[in-house]
Amino acid sequence: MKGVFLHGNRDIRVEHRDDPSIVEPTDAIIRLSATCICGSDLWPYRAESQSGLPAPMGHEYVGVVEAVGSEVRTIRPGQFVVGSFFASDNTCEICRSGYQSACIHRIGMGGIGTQAELARIPLADGTLVATDELPDPSMVPSLLAASDVLGTGWFAAQAAEVGPGKTVVVVGDGAVGQLGVLAANQMGAERIIMMSRHPSRQELARSFGATDIVTERGDEGIHVIREMTGGLGAQSVIEAVGTRESMSQAIGSCRAGGHVGFVGLTHGDVSGGQLFGSHVHLHGGPAPVRRFLPELIDLIFAGDIDPGVVFDLTVPLDDAAAGYDAMDSRQAIKTMLTV
Ligand SMILES: [Zn+2]
Repeated sequence: MKGVFLHGNRDIRVEHRDDPSIVEPTDAIIRLSATCICGSDLWPYRAESQSGLPAPMGHEYVGVVEAVGSEVRTIRPGQFVVGSFFASDNTCEICRSGYQSACIHRIGMGGIGTQAELARIPLADGTLVATDELPDPSMVPSLLAASDVLGTGWFAAQAAEVGPGKTVVVVGDGAVGQLGVLAANQMGAERIIMMSRHPSRQELARSFGATDIVTERGDEGIHVIREMTGGLGAQSVIEAVGTRESMSQAIGSCRAGGHVGFVGLTHGDVSGGQLFGSHVHLHGGPAPVRRFLPELIDLIFAGDIDPGVVFDLTVPLDDAAAGYDAMDSRQAIKTMLTV
């Protein structure tokens, strides 16, 4: 089969890989219907040097089950399935509490690499959610979005305690921030303020339910948010970037007693002084997307949400390098790879 590998700084190649096979009796093999490039894939892509190259890439996936191991009970060949970036047993105490991304048996899908024609999915019964019927092809982008960016935006909104009547600030106008807007809208937020200075991304945010746009950043951005919220700051803030600056902006935009849901892959420390003085609740990390998949799949099948529109570039798997380049240069918000 073909698969995407990172060979070095901005060096993406599509190469032949051995077809995956069942390794553990709890594994499944899926044939990808589509896969995609994550904003977090850009961190290793941009790294000047790193070990472990060439590295397989990709951790988002939807597809049709081809084979299952002898201990797989609920997932069957022929089913259309959605999974997320950590395989999880969905039975341990941490999973049962809703934190499947911290499962005591979790396996990172990035190490397996789902930007490929086929993928081995560990802990298939716990990891995968099968749809009731095969989806119409027009639904595949939205189901693929559920695999990571929608589930992550959803978690961020829950972690930020978004709810009816609340004002929500979203820091980050990439795919996760955009779907954080969608989630906040679904959860009944009264006012959703997207912090973005890119007209096309502002427009997308408005289509998902943003009511206000703030173009200022940093202390200036915090000042504007405070002015818009009676000097208090927002009750709920979604942080979807992962830099010191974005986290600082998120905490600064949140009122005392408010909640920040942070899901940007963190690269940079926040000052202890700012944290201590903030009086905000912080909750975040790698999103337990598995918790939300059944609900998100239902919303997509019902036509209530259309998160797949975050894919503003679609290229064949063979052209993955062009897809990475487009996201790296911010020409594309998110690239879907057709298989
Ligand atoms: Zn578990």
